[in-house]
Amino acid sequence: LLFDAGGAPAKAADARGPSPSPVFMPAAADLEVALAQKNLFVVYQPKIHCSTGRVSGLEALVRWQHPDHGLVTPDRFIPLAEGAGLIDGITLAVLNDALPWFAKWSSDYEELGELTLSINISARSLGRPELIDTIVALCERSGVSPSKLIFELTETAAMDEPVAALTLLTRLRVHGFMLSLDDFGTGYSSMLQLVRLPFSELKIDRSFVASAATSQESRAVIRCITDLGRSLGMKTTAEGVEDSATHTYLQEIGCDLAQGYLFSRPLTPMLLANWMDKHLEKVGGN
Ligand code: C2E
Ligand code: MG
Ligand code: MG
Ligand code: MG
Repeated sequence: LLFDAGGAPAKAADARGPSPSPVFMPAAADLEVALAQKNLFVVYQPKIHCSTGRVSGLEALVRWQHPDHGLVTPDRFIPLAEGAGLIDGITLAVLNDALPWFAKWSSDYEELGELTLSINISARSLGRPELIDTIVALCERSGVSPSKLIFELTETAAMDEPVAALTLLTRLRVHGFMLSLDDFGTGYSSMLQLVRLPFSELKIDRSFVASAATSQESRAVIRCITDLGRSLGMKTTAEGVEDSATHTYLQEIGCDLAQGYLFSRPLTPMLLANWMDKHLEKVGGN
């Protein structure tokens, strides 16, 4: 049932319904029930070093398994959660799932080198400093060093509220967490804010990466962001890599990291462990 919980529509979950129903539009109350009944779960997508093909870390992506409507993807409930004041609850639910798994995988796959764990964080959490204390406590409890955690914030979120963003992001940095600017290229960063905010990674938006193989313009944008990241001392990650021609291009221009179906879809913990076993066999220990 939960075998392929990737970005594509869940065939297994959808096929269970009697007939193709109109798209489920959840209400805040549904989401509250889901949180209380633990119907949210987390899938993990490997992040790869472009040059070597070795895994560098994992991104946690939330899913909602609705008892009647099947799999609901985050695009359909994260904005709802933000509006209803439920987003911090989701962040904490994700961390509660991800930190113990990450601690286990870090030791099970020690030979692969130090791994990182990427967590998506909402702009709505930016105003709430208490959240950071809770996150720090969760890390301590699961024995995960904050330096292994990367918080991803979308470009739009970071740039809409640069003052709030600077305060929260600086606090996170002080605790040793790393920060990533997600979906880069789709928002409107001012170069000034980009330099001021303490990001250590730029994630090149999937829309450019998806069309890299066929569009020279997309390749130009990807190269430009990679150069910018390098000049500013940030790592660049291409998200949504689906073909090997794009992977080769990323290697050529010196993009640091890549994520996408070419390497793996987001996977449930069990399937991720299988993937890691095979990966270790393929690339060997360090
Ligand atoms: P994102 O953080 O930019 O995540 C990347 C999205 O691209 C994920 O969609 C992932 O499944 C999908 N993806 C990865 N590789 C490929 C590929 O090769 N091809 C294609 N077509 N898609 C690929 P997903 O999981 O549906 O998440 C969508 C967005 O929802 C995320 O974008 C993120 O902004 C948000 N999100 C996900 N989980 C969380 C969470 O726990 N908290 C918050 N605040 N937001 C989350
Ligand atoms: Mg992300
Ligand atoms: Mg993204
Ligand atoms: Mg996105």
